[in-house]
Amino acid sequence: MTPAPLRLLERLGAHLPEGTAAPRDADLILAGGGLANGLIAWRLAQARPGLRILLLESGSALGGNHTWSFHDGDLTPAQHAWLAPLVAHRWAGHSVKFPGGERRLATGYASVTSSRFDAVLRSALPAQVQVRFGAPVAWLTASAVTLASGEVLRAGAVIDGRGLRPSPHLSLGYQKFLGQELRLDGPHGLSQPVLMDATVKQHGGYRFIYLLPFSADTLLVEDTCYADDELLDADRLRAGIADYAQARGWTVAEVLREERGVLPITLDGDIEAYWREAHGVARAGLAAGLFHATTGYSLPSAVRLADLIASLPDLSSAPLFDAIRGHALAQWRAQGFFRLLNRMLFRACAPGQRWRVMQRFYGLPAPLIERFYAARLGLLDKARLLAGKPPVPVGAAWRASWPAPAGQGGGLAGSAAREDKNGKSGVSSTSDSLEGIHPDVR
Ligand SMILES: Cc1cc2nc3c(=O)[nH]c(=O)nc-3n(C[C@H](O)[C@H](O)[C@H](O)COP(=O)(O)OP(=O)(O)OC[C@H]3O[C@@H](n4cnc5c(N)ncnc54)[C@H](O)[C@@H]3O)c2cc1C
Repeated sequence: MTPAPLRLLERLGAHLPEGTAAPRDADLILAGGGLANGLIAWRLAQARPGLRILLLESGSALGGNHTWSFHDGDLTPAQHAWLAPLVAHRWAGHSVKFPGGERRLATGYASVTSSRFDAVLRSALPAQVQVRFGAPVAWLTASAVTLASGEVLRAGAVIDGRGLRPSPHLSLGYQKFLGQELRLDGPHGLSQPVLMDATVKQHGGYRFIYLLPFSADTLLVEDTCYADDELLDADRLRAGIADYAQARGWTVAEVLREERGVLPITLDGDIEAYWREAHGVARAGLAAGLFHATTGYSLPSAVRLADLIASLPDLSSAPLFDAIRGHALAQWRAQGFFRLLNRMLFRACAPGQRWRVMQRFYGLPAPLIERFYAARLGLLDKARLLAGKPPVPVGAAWRASWPAPAGQGGGLAGSAAREDKNGKSGVSSTSDSLEGIHPDVR
């Protein structure tokens, strides 16, 4: 239903003399000043300097309270270059730790902090990009926004980047975490990030500690869990961080800041139905479904979307919507294999055993791991990931690999009949037969 201010505006617009366009407040309105819309504003300011942009944020800063990290291989050299001013920390490599041992990887890793994001965008965005804080959007259409105050703003197009919203059309698991930036009373001894220390006690799902060393005595410590539910027990996670610091012999002098997240891990869904809920309004970021299906991370996708938008010849509402929707649908299709892996992880593997899947994954060749995070797996990579004896029961893995038919919540019920036909051999080790037997291995 269109709210009263917009109805009034539409009526006024309808009575303007023929050939007179309703006055516009901007060429483009970006609703939500988070990662995706901030990057779109930043990229458009560089690539399309004449464009008048209005960025509306309900809070008092751009980017909220996050540390967004990514692997070097996630971005092209050109993307690294335009993102560079926003990057606060870089490391030449990283490591992972499992009960079976530690592995060091030479792939670079980097982080954009929201404080730097906010500071750089505020100071470097040109005058034609206007940022309004404390401007909660109550309603929007493809070309107009109504603020909670009742003020109506019009533009050639609107992009909704207000974050993920619940939808019956996505079936999700969760990566949930709480992180604390700690100052220790001495050096922590880390020179590179530890992306997963899974030697910790497992509970609630696949649990690991994530460590980003920012200086000799400061670091971000996150207690993270791949879980079936989205409830975040902050006190328990804080206690997990304190226990971990103590076990490493670190004395915490100060908790500098805290961040938390519950990221979506897609198991299956109907992306076309999800986009129908947009009613023709262009979306960005998590709202567009643009994130890595297995990690919930969205920075590389947001960079690619900003590039796409900056390259579009026509930024009016209909072509913009079509281009972003088409891109999001293509990304979704390209990630079918990741959703298959997620279903195996979440539906075939007991929560306390999920670490075995990750330990096996981190035993694979480093270039494959890089391509996994960059969501650029080839057919042979997929075959390699599925080859051999999986660390979960084969029959359960095979049943879980199939998406639920429309109208059924879980993947298991819909796949029982297929198991009879395909048998327990289930997961094949050759790429040709993989392509032949499973629609998500392409
Ligand atoms: C703590 C945390 C750490 C993460 N770490 C990583 C990481 O390391 N790497 C990675 O790639 N991804 C990471 N993610 C996942 C993902 O990249 C982020 O969630 C990312 O911020 C999503 O971008 P977005 O633009 O879709 O939404 P957001 O960045 O959440 O932006 C939404 C914005 O809209 C604003 N808003 C909401 N409602 C309204 C309204 N009605 N009116 C106006 N404004 C509104 C919000 O205040 C917010 O600023 C992390 C997420 C969290 C929560």
